[in-house]
Amino acid sequence: MTKIILTGDRPTGRLHIGHYVGSLKRRVELQNSGKYDEIYIMIADAQALTDNMENPEKVRQNIIEVALDYLACGLDPKKSVLFIQSQIPELCEMSFYYMNLVTVSRLQRNPTVKTEIQMRNFEKTIPVGFFTYPISQAADITAFKATTVPVGEDQAPMIEQTREIVYKFNNVYGETLTLPDILLPDNKACLRLPGTDGKAKMSKSLNNCIYLSDTEEEIQQKIKTMYTDPTHLRVEDPGHVEGNPVFIYLDAFCKDEHFEKYWPEYKNLDELKAHYMRGGLGDVKVKKFLNNVIQEELRPIRERRLELAKDIPAIYKILEEGSKIARAKAAQTLSEMKEAMKINYFADKELIAQQAEKFGK
Ligand code: ATP
Ligand code: MG
Repeated sequence: MTKIILTGDRPTGRLHIGHYVGSLKRRVELQNSGKYDEIYIMIADAQALTDNMENPEKVRQNIIEVALDYLACGLDPKKSVLFIQSQIPELCEMSFYYMNLVTVSRLQRNPTVKTEIQMRNFEKTIPVGFFTYPISQAADITAFKATTVPVGEDQAPMIEQTREIVYKFNNVYGETLTLPDILLPDNKACLRLPGTDGKAKMSKSLNNCIYLSDTEEEIQQKIKTMYTDPTHLRVEDPGHVEGNPVFIYLDAFCKDEHFEKYWPEYKNLDELKAHYMRGGLGDVKVKKFLNNVIQEELRPIRERRLELAKDIPAIYKILEEGSKIARAKAAQTLSEMKEAMKINYFADKELIAQQAEKFGK
């Protein structure tokens, strides 16, 4: 079976370590595994406009930031098609037809959309486009016949919605669309990385992020002032590791080798956690270790990013070429859909003959 990946990000800001562990790092590994026939990585500008319609400049500026983050992390335009959502008008056409397959109450039940509505104070003023973005996301996924969608946990309801649309479409119009599977991170800490403020999700819109492009000083400062265990007041107090973002980040990033290199007093994270929970270990020391671990991971990304930023026109060219390839693929799928839905009148010789006969010609 052909294996195809589709995933992407909204250009609402630079990418952060939540994106990195939740999806981006995995994509690069999958890309380099050679096990996938096609890989599509989308910058979802049209989706970003659904809750930023008054601020198109923000979306426009962040397209290049996201593209730089992609390339700096190792997405390779020779192996993956990097493209911009709004350049593929076929996606809008697909969404329009999918809207008939979904009920309003089904959309209202989507837990991620519910949380996002609250976060944006959209309770009374939700734009229709934002409310229906899970449908447009189904178009993004199915247009490329994606079999695999590597994303963070917050995206699970979107993939579920897409699967329902696929079932329904194929059921009504005949087997046409491919059923996608979600691919979540194996590491539990990476499913939904919390913010530096202790909030449940690190998110561009919440200003609680460590960005892949942050300088060494910015990272250090953010880690220094990070939320930890509020009950761990004195060094001798027993501490909690659960729900403590410092330890969750360590769960996401730290390997045994890091202890050998930066903190040989401990063999591994379990030993460190045990000491913290017993009491007698201060946050400052743990944060210093976390800083070393994160700096080591982000340094090469930041350096590659600075190098890539020297030739911005080349990055736009990559996106332009990618968008052409993506558009051809989406157009092919749309044409199959329209044939299945029997709205391909001019190509349907049988229909024309039938109608001619009906009218006595
Ligand atoms: P916005 O606030 O604009 O929605 P975001 O930070 O949620 O931005 P998205 O572009 O919506 O980022 O998400 C891109 C991808 O990154 C998705 O696959 C999503 O699941 C994943 N992701 C985003 N935030 C996290 C996080 N904190 N932990 C793990 N994965 C994440
Ligand atoms: Mg999001």
